[in-house]
Amino acid sequence: MNKNQDNKPNNATRLLDNEPVGKTVQVVRVMGDGAFRQRLLEMGFVRGAKVTVLKNAPLKDPVEYMIMGSHISLRHSEAAQIEVTDQNAEFCDMEDAFNGIVETEVAGVDPMADNVLRVVLVGNPNCGKTSLFNNVTGAKEKVGNYGGVTVDSKEGWFSIDGRKVQLVDLPGTYSLTEYSPEEMYVRTYIRDNHPDAILNIVDAGNLERNLYLTTQIMDMNIPMVVALNMWDELEKSGDKLDIEMMSRLLGARMVPLTAYNGHGVKDVLKATMEAIDESEQETLHHNVNYGTLIEDSLKELGDMCPELDRYTVLKVIENDQHAIHLLDGKDNADEVKKTAADLRQRIERDYNDDIVSIITDLKYGFVRGALAEALTPNPERSTGETKPGYSMDRLLTNRWLALPILLVLMWLMFEATFTLGAYPQEWIESGIGWIGEWIGKAMPDGILRDLIVDGIIGGVGGVLVFLPQILILFFFISLLEDSGYMARAAFIVDRVMHRVGLHGKSFIPYLIGFGCGVPAIMATRTLENRRDRLVTILTVPFMSCSARLPAYLLLVAAFFTANQGLILMSIYLIGILVAALTAILMSKTFLKHDKTQFVMELPPYRKPTARNATIHMWSKGKQYLQKMATIILAASIIVWALGYFPRHDGQTPQEQIENSYMGKMGKAIEPIVEPLGFNWQMGVSVLTGAAAKEIVVSTMGVLYTGEADATEESTSLKEKLQTATKPNGEHVFNPIIAYSFMLFILLYFPCIAALAAIKREAGWKWVAFEVVYTTGVAWLVSFIFYQTAIRL
Ligand code: GDP
Ligand code: MG
Repeated sequence: MNKNQDNKPNNATRLLDNEPVGKTVQVVRVMGDGAFRQRLLEMGFVRGAKVTVLKNAPLKDPVEYMIMGSHISLRHSEAAQIEVTDQNAEFCDMEDAFNGIVETEVAGVDPMADNVLRVVLVGNPNCGKTSLFNNVTGAKEKVGNYGGVTVDSKEGWFSIDGRKVQLVDLPGTYSLTEYSPEEMYVRTYIRDNHPDAILNIVDAGNLERNLYLTTQIMDMNIPMVVALNMWDELEKSGDKLDIEMMSRLLGARMVPLTAYNGHGVKDVLKATMEAIDESEQETLHHNVNYGTLIEDSLKELGDMCPELDRYTVLKVIENDQHAIHLLDGKDNADEVKKTAADLRQRIERDYNDDIVSIITDLKYGFVRGALAEALTPNPERSTGETKPGYSMDRLLTNRWLALPILLVLMWLMFEATFTLGAYPQEWIESGIGWIGEWIGKAMPDGILRDLIVDGIIGGVGGVLVFLPQILILFFFISLLEDSGYMARAAFIVDRVMHRVGLHGKSFIPYLIGFGCGVPAIMATRTLENRRDRLVTILTVPFMSCSARLPAYLLLVAAFFTANQGLILMSIYLIGILVAALTAILMSKTFLKHDKTQFVMELPPYRKPTARNATIHMWSKGKQYLQKMATIILAASIIVWALGYFPRHDGQTPQEQIENSYMGKMGKAIEPIVEPLGFNWQMGVSVLTGAAAKEIVVSTMGVLYTGEADATEESTSLKEKLQTATKPNGEHVFNPIIAYSFMLFILLYFPCIAALAAIKREAGWKWVAFEVVYTTGVAWLVSFIFYQTAIRL
């Protein structure tokens, strides 16, 4: 057997990254150390586990592997850390590790001691926690088919038998070792909030991996119910699970569940309440039996610190720094640490391996032993064959087709946004025009009429017309998220992302960023590496969000007649390019690239539900309307007032606005924006647009309404921009100026909401950096573009 210390593979073993596609091998060990190794172990790369090489990504790196029925993407450099050997019967002795369970007496507690009954949802990413949460509490939280959708805890309530219970949806996690932010979050939440029960959601189609987390929860000695979710998929796959036997072997209540349609929800809740009620009396709690040596060690150390639960005692033996910190301040802390070190050494010597591998192996051994008894796999499926739900990968991650398909999908998304959205947009536009005209005629002349027609309808109406486009964009993003394609996109572009110093997983926040930067910045929490998160957070604002869309749509429609879809897409591509260059720059300078390693899971494809897409679209639409009714309304009124006052008699509307407060502000910044081809009205628009980018359009709506003479009351903003002239008779806009303006809107100052998100995730320092950097880049890019274009 190998000594863990020597880092070279011996003759009989090879490294996983050299294995050809289609081959199935068995894991001997994972080399290296630290968080990445731990994660690989937890994901199932334990001694004896079978791994199948499925395919290379279109750009050769990363590689898709199947382990324990789940699909995982690893880079070659990462796979090179895993030592494997040919399949070998001797190696299949994992079940021998099954020692069953041990029982611990747990004193009774009063679940109502803190006046609330609290149940927390804990489970792997993407196992259906939020689906259950929504079903039970009636909430409409976001569900998506990739890991890491929920990044915060969400609380809701439900009633059962006249009792009110609080349900908490926690971020998904593979383990509770506190290596990643999610693990830390979940572990701390459980420790600090003392839930009355844990509802452990597992993916029934992927029990081996999912139950690993269950073994950790078991050690916490908190009442637990295991919900076997995705029961519909398990039944479809032809596998058979003997639930009763499984419950007995694990010593835990298990209930089948199909969260997305609600089958089994009642039974799950009932079982949870039973578990809580039972805990009022002294109960026997079930734990994994790790064998005599480790059980004796647990007892010896546990007796020295009776206030720690079994989970923490085991972690102290594992030399887990967080657990060891919990000892600080205890009288016998040094003694406990010393004993733990002695015990650890003894165990490592006995098993001839390092403690983390030993415990992980034993936990997996326990799970496999139980599954060997209770789970009968579909006899028609052989090892190495993928489960149903992955067949679309033949097309979508195909070596030749993957990249073209990705590009076509993105193009379709933008094209549909532009063309499909144009129809309802016209209706809304004429509706608003009609209302404006009607009010204009019905009301007597005066400030109030001007405020309503020019300020409110001109400003808010100018932005409101883009609601259909925004809904369509979010609809597409929701489809990508629900189907499972997001993770594929990350897999396909990982190689490219690697070039700019990031992981393919960053692609997901970027894609969400096309919708809105705020959830995109939140989504970076799924990146485990702080440097990667920071680079992604700081570059996400270059992804053109939907708030900027109104400005592009207006300008493209007004000043470009051919290839409108392509021109729009070019703006998005320039955003991506600037983000990439920025990421490279950061990686090379002050955010130096460290080895980014984390494991990404590729979930099975799932049919997006119309319900989910509609909920998503509706909630975004609602947010947009709320923004309309608050910040954009307020801004429109302020902009209008700044342009309306001070009043002077006998001026043309043009002169009036030029001499207003707004005009003075605009004139003051004119020298800064003039080299970009902008006039002062455009300067003011970008200034006010800092609050929210839609305001760029609403400001122009207000500024240019003032110019129209009475007969032209109903002309659209688009036409007004087309005909606007400077005092010298030249047109204010032409295609070059319009494009320069779009570039500036794309790149400058992220909105206040995005900055608030950056502040939350990264701190003030980075907010300041971002403001200066983005605005600087915007000015420079527009300057170079404009000055070059007018000379051509
Ligand atoms: P979370 O990450 O654990 O919160 O999981 P989500 O609730 O976001 O769900 C992940 C994906 O699984 C979504 O695409 C859901 O529609 C899907 N899903 C959830 N429950 C079930 C189920 O019981 N059966 C099937 N087939 N899919 C489900
Ligand atoms: Mg979730």
